[in-house]
Order: sequence, then structure tokens, then C-alpha cells
Amino acid sequence: MPAGAVTFDAGQTLVELDTAMLAARLAERGLDVAAAALDAAWPAAWRHHEAEVGRGARHPWRQLMAALLAGAGVPAAALDATVAWLWDQQATRNLWRRDVPGMRALVADLAAAGVPLAVVSNSEGHLAALLAELGWARWFVAIADSGVLGVAKPDPGIFAWAGARLGVAADAIVHVGDSRAADVVGARAAGLRAIWFGADATPLDDPGVVAARDAAATRAALAAWGLPCGAPGDPGR
Ligand SMILES: [Mg+2]
Repeated sequence: MPAGAVTFDAGQTLVELDTAMLAARLAERGLDVAAAALDAAWPAAWRHHEAEVGRGARHPWRQLMAALLAGAGVPAAALDATVAWLWDQQATRNLWRRDVPGMRALVADLAAAGVPLAVVSNSEGHLAALLAELGWARWFVAIADSGVLGVAKPDPGIFAWAGARLGVAADAIVHVGDSRAADVVGARAAGLRAIWFGADATPLDDPGVVAARDAAATRAALAAWGLPCGAPGDPGR
């Protein structure tokens, strides 16, 4: 059966950590950390985050940030207070605001083709405002923010909430997200198909899951499932 709707994770799928902004924020606290050092520390910090989610943590933002800052050289004595300050600031100075390459064009193309789209995110309760500020919100029928709904991925309930608003049966929805533990496991438990997105994605023994390392591969996977988004390099785009 061709798919008829798509849901997207937000963090590291549509928008990613803006390491230049984080470096600037740390400088406000007297911490001299280069954006490049944050970029270099990111993969290990993210693997730590994934392990925490796999152990049942619902939104281990502080653990992710602490691992990232420690990996980038922030002194241990400064970690707790710095992470607490960044978390307190996150509501109004969200650090996840840099476009993931190629994903804005993909979302815009799907919306232009009339595909109902939603966001399903483990976030802090301010995601709709952030996506509006960044110019993404107009493409989505609904934005499921765990901080608002009180239910978080991988709980199937947050996917069901979005599916009800999309008006499409679960087995005709494809969810795109970078977290195996939250996005892939959650979407499959809710009856959706899944695209495991990002550099860490690897093929799984499940015909309902496709691994896509970047936006072009995601576009190709969605097209293969019957969604009108064009193939990479399609001159019709
Ligand atoms: Mg994510």
C-alpha cells in the first residue's frame, strides 16, 4: 500500500544543534569553547544520549548536554551549573535551530504535493513556537511536542495523536527520525513505517524500516513508498 502521510522528528532530523550559538552562549559564562570542539564531541555525546533513551530515559537533555560539554573540554566543576543554566534558557533561546541539510526542501516539496505532514518530537513544550520562528511550521498539520502532550517517544501514544490529526491510518504513515530507540522503535510499535535518518543509521532486518543517511536518501525512500516528493536529482523539482 502506498504511504499517504509523513511525520518527522525535529532534533537532528529537521533542525540540529547550532554549535556556533552554543559556543557563544558558553562565552557569556566565561567558558572558552570552540564550536569545532563541540562538533567533534557531538558523536560520542549523542551515542550516550541514545543509550540513555534505550534505558528508558524519556528526554535526557541534561545528560546529552553534560556529555557534550565535558567532551568539548568544559571543566567538570563547571558542568552542573552550566547545564542547568542552558536548560533554563532553552525555552527562549533554543539551541536546536540550524537546518539539517536538504530537509527543508524535502518538507516543502512534500507539502507542495499535498502530503499531510506532522512533527513528532520529544521536546520541551515550546517546539511549535520555535518552528514558527524558523519558518517551518506552515508545512505541518500538527506538531506533537512531548513537553505539551505529556507522552513521549517511543510511546505509541504520541504517534497516535499525530495520526489522528493527519487523518491517515497508521500503516500509511512514514515516520522519519534519527533516534533508533525513540523514532524507529516507537513508530514501529505504533504501526507506522520508519525511516531511520542520519549518519548512524544502518539497515535493520525489518521491511518496514529503511536506513537513510541524508536528505537525498530519505527522499528516495519516501518516493519508493509512493510519496510524491521526486527522486534525488529529479529535474522536475
Ligand atoms: Mg531527533
